[in-house]
Amino acid sequence: MSEGAKFEDDDVLILVDVQNDFCPGGALAVPRGDEIIPIVNRLAARFRNVVLTQDWHPHGHSSFASSHPGKRPFETIVMPYGQQILWPDHCVQSTPGAEFHPALHAPHATLIVRKGFDRAIDSYSAFYENDRKTPTGLVGYLRERGLSRVFFAGLAFDFCVRYSAEDARREGFDAFVVEDACRAIDMDNSAEATRVSLSALGVPCLHAREFA
Ligand SMILES: [Zn+2]
Repeated sequence: MSEGAKFEDDDVLILVDVQNDFCPGGALAVPRGDEIIPIVNRLAARFRNVVLTQDWHPHGHSSFASSHPGKRPFETIVMPYGQQILWPDHCVQSTPGAEFHPALHAPHATLIVRKGFDRAIDSYSAFYENDRKTPTGLVGYLRERGLSRVFFAGLAFDFCVRYSAEDARREGFDAFVVEDACRAIDMDNSAEATRVSLSALGVPCLHAREFA
């Protein structure tokens, strides 16, 4: 991506989970998560096509530590679909924590993908739930609209952005992560593991300043 590059009509920016609960003061705050807002807003203004994702859990969701007696947030358990990190209650449907950050400005976004709404399955990726089989419908939306290059930004770099970008690549889209428009939770070196994994899959990490 060269300096001054313009985004084309078949490019789409997917803003992952820019929600109150993932920002400082929220229930599952990503450190310095709010710092991305002005970067994301400038980036969004350069794209004709923008999609938002929204973590959207029912009360008592199975990814919440509070749903598992004796378990604490950030412990890992085995679910029917595999390993699952347990989180504090967050992004509960129709609560302020689930709302987009009030400073997020992407009025031209055409789609909001809500994920994690099945009580029994978490969903990090914008494309597939954590059973890795149940689709959200986003692949179909992008294909039907002829969107082939997918740029990702948002929260958190090492979970929902990572899984979304990896699934986009596996589905045959050209995928890119705008890393300075993301922030990481960084559990057990997960940010560096994310860079390694994205690189291995052919997903470049870019910086928003490259587009300035
Ligand atoms: Zn969640």
